[in-house]
Amino acid sequence: MGTTFTIKIADPQASSKQQAVKTDVEQLLIHINQLMSTYIDDSELTLINQSKSTDWLSVSEELLNVLLEAKKISQLSDGAFDITVGPLVNLWGFGPNEVTKDMLPDEEVITNTMAIIGYEKIDYQSSKKVIRKQHEDIYIDLSAIAKGYAVDEVADLLDAYGFKNYMVDIGGELKPKGKRSDERGWRIGIEKPVVDRRSIQRVIEIDRIGMATSGDYRNFYEVDGVRYSHTINPRTGQPVAHKLASVTVLHESVMQADALATALNVLGPEDGVQLARNQGITAYFIVHDDEQYKEISTHNFEQYFVEKVK
Ligand code: ADP
Ligand code: MG
Repeated sequence: MGTTFTIKIADPQASSKQQAVKTDVEQLLIHINQLMSTYIDDSELTLINQSKSTDWLSVSEELLNVLLEAKKISQLSDGAFDITVGPLVNLWGFGPNEVTKDMLPDEEVITNTMAIIGYEKIDYQSSKKVIRKQHEDIYIDLSAIAKGYAVDEVADLLDAYGFKNYMVDIGGELKPKGKRSDERGWRIGIEKPVVDRRSIQRVIEIDRIGMATSGDYRNFYEVDGVRYSHTINPRTGQPVAHKLASVTVLHESVMQADALATALNVLGPEDGVQLARNQGITAYFIVHDDEQYKEISTHNFEQYFVEKVK
């Protein structure tokens, strides 16, 4: 998944099971990568992406479930979240093939690529566990949802072990449960959206709720003073360019939180806030405001704030 993970277990019996849990978690993550990673040459998803077939293709149940969740978030966000953006992500230099980041993609290439972008260009028959690409070059990128899915799966694994107190964190998408070893709740810092250092804007306390953040301040590059984000607006083919610095979403399903955060990031500070309010999404936005930041949270988010750190 191109990132790191941390799992903390605070149950008293954790240390005796440590090695077994570690092995199981690692195997689970290898398994998920082998299904969904575009960085692995023979993952199930890579083989689908490489296939030029426009016939029905069998998919594993796990991959199918993630694809169907992705479709729901695409419908909810009117296409702002779209797993077919892969070719654009690659064009802009954020895909598995590293490209030099001092050259912007050609307008004409972007326009041509738009022909194979669109979540509606994939058909599903869930009872038969098959999908169909309407165009042979459709390329699926699950980077904005698979990490969240993996967090949910690891949390389920820890539940199956009987653990009641833990924290799972994969690349910043996370899910805490119960208490830390000092008996206090899990507190999570939401970063200030600054590039050069890590500091905390807000602290929240959550239990059995997932958190995901999407922002413009970690994964981007600059050409001539303009910042290009790794979040792409599927309607324009361009990296998002608006005043939203980061958006954090809370949801029982980290998979949904992950995808929703990217969706709201594409929609930006006006449409994103509006969608969150209309749909009851628990979201917290940090918006660039001259040299400062402005915070916007939906009312259901506010109960989780512990303190304000200036
Ligand atoms: P963030 O934490 O900023 O959301 P993620 O790694 O979760 O970062 O998701 C960003 C990745 O999702 C990009 O690198 C790209 O592969 C993919 N992506 C970019 N734009 C979209 C989009 N509009 N819909 C779905 N996936 C996207
Ligand atoms: Mg995300």
